[in-house]
Amino acid sequence: MVEDKTAKKTSKDFIREIIDEDLAAGKNEGRVATRFPPEPNGYPHIGHAKSICLNFGIAQEYGGTCNLRMDDTDPEGESMEYVEALKRDVKWLGFDWGDRLFFASDYYDKLYEFAEELIRQGKAYVCDLSPEEIKAYRGTLTEPGKESPYRNRSVEENLDLFRRMKKGEFPEGSRVLRAKIDMSSPNMNLRDPVLYRIKKTHHYRTQDKWCIYPMYDFAHPLSDALEGITHSICTLEFENNRPLYDWVLDQFSWKIRPRQIEFARLNLNYTVMSKRILIELVEKGVVKGWDDPRLPTISGMRRRGYTPEAIRTFCDRIGVAKNDSTIDVALLEDCVRDDLNQKARRVMAVLRPLKVIIDNYPEGQTEEFVCPYHPKDESLGMRKVPFSRVLYIEKDDFMVDPPPKFLRLAPGREVRLRWGYFIRCVDWKKDPQTGEVSEVRCVYDPETKSGFAPDGRKVGATIHWVSAFHSIPGEVRLYDRLFLVPDPLADDGDFLRYLNPNSLEVLKECRLEPSLATASPQDRFQFERLGYFCVDDDSRPDQLVFNRTVTLRDTWAKVKEKGETKDK
Ligand code: ATP
Ligand code: MG
Repeated sequence: MVEDKTAKKTSKDFIREIIDEDLAAGKNEGRVATRFPPEPNGYPHIGHAKSICLNFGIAQEYGGTCNLRMDDTDPEGESMEYVEALKRDVKWLGFDWGDRLFFASDYYDKLYEFAEELIRQGKAYVCDLSPEEIKAYRGTLTEPGKESPYRNRSVEENLDLFRRMKKGEFPEGSRVLRAKIDMSSPNMNLRDPVLYRIKKTHHYRTQDKWCIYPMYDFAHPLSDALEGITHSICTLEFENNRPLYDWVLDQFSWKIRPRQIEFARLNLNYTVMSKRILIELVEKGVVKGWDDPRLPTISGMRRRGYTPEAIRTFCDRIGVAKNDSTIDVALLEDCVRDDLNQKARRVMAVLRPLKVIIDNYPEGQTEEFVCPYHPKDESLGMRKVPFSRVLYIEKDDFMVDPPPKFLRLAPGREVRLRWGYFIRCVDWKKDPQTGEVSEVRCVYDPETKSGFAPDGRKVGATIHWVSAFHSIPGEVRLYDRLFLVPDPLADDGDFLRYLNPNSLEVLKECRLEPSLATASPQDRFQFERLGYFCVDDDSRPDQLVFNRTVTLRDTWAKVKEKGETKDK
């Protein structure tokens, strides 16, 4: 299901309503404290952006705080590279955690103490069942579970075994620490859940100090409580874990008691957001890296030219809800377009050049048109665009034998050059080998410098161009959706077969207007008639590289409407 959520928000979402109620009831000493708790096992993506905007946004609105917490309790796959990526991307999105960067791994000693305390209270025990047995004993949704034969060990024995687990005396999988709750609970999560398991794995921060690691359901509520979090916002799949979250907190006393609230995660069509799959795409070389502009990662979007403002607007527009839905990626692209429309300087670039010679323009002569960078925003200034006898225009702006709807350049036909003269085609040449048009000959009308003919005659089109001599070379990368189908994971099969083979097209022979010579990475422009473009991180002054951020219109909508092929 694809929902149109473009409607403007008129009321508060349910999370803010809960916070209002808590404040009205005088809870939490009137404070609002949230956190964004990523596991540093991948680069953050647009789904994380939703959570970041929500948590940091709420803190801003309520004059509260938002912690950035690395939820690093599973040593496998976590690394400092991911921590740095998370920090950079949260910052880039425009949020500030101040001095509140935390790591769950910094709480390992405390979490261990809490676990011993549970054992002393008779609420946790060491269980020797194998992982398969634990699963079998758990029962099903319709049948109660069976109690572990180790459930009634004495406190002393449990403490001794747990300490020896910590010392590394037992092999992985041989023992776990479990909460003693209720094996017949209708909520499977309360059937004596595992709190600690043995994992003889190096941790990127605690190194080899620990060989037992706490489970998420144990570490998360306690980390929240230790940080004084008031509202612990997470995604819907944790709804059934909430009773366990509360159970863990109930075993200890707290000044501020966090409250878990779940919301629907963001799903976008034509892409994937599972970190496992993103890692696979990166490791298999399907994309060029975590910041490949085709990925829904924040670093990919940044490289592609998306702005933090556009992403924040998108997160605002989709809002938060309690039921899962899929958002059309076109909505995200619209937010990007809207933002760039206001900010991007307009310039001319020719992606697939065709040479045009103006027969009646003197050889060696040049003139400069002074053109505004933006149709509305004068503060963006002006630039000079040189004009001379030899120009480049787009190949597809000329047709020898045009169909009725084609109003651009054709034999005998006149068009307007953007910011310049009218030109009329008088001849053309074909490459004898390829059969492609290789050169077009035109004459210009010196009386049309203003863009209009004194006799009032009209033209059917205005096309962009660059002066051949003055233009500079550049590479342009055009991106399309990474997958051909809305939900590449729908059928559990090999999602790689749905990859769009044309998700990247590299054009190496582009010609750019000379004002672009000083463009540097992350600068964003509108190439007139072609879309919004951003200077790539690989770009060098002597070898400019641009990424197309987004087309001027939603080209996929047109496909849907008319069943046509997209214009590139
Ligand atoms: P994955 O399931 O792909 O491994 P994750 O949800 O486990 O991702 P975390 O690093 O644990 O990734 O997520 C950090 C925070 O971001 C969590 O609070 C999680 O709920 C939130 N989050 C992750 N994905 C989304 C999403 N698609 N929409 C909204 N919030 C999300
Ligand atoms: Mg997670």
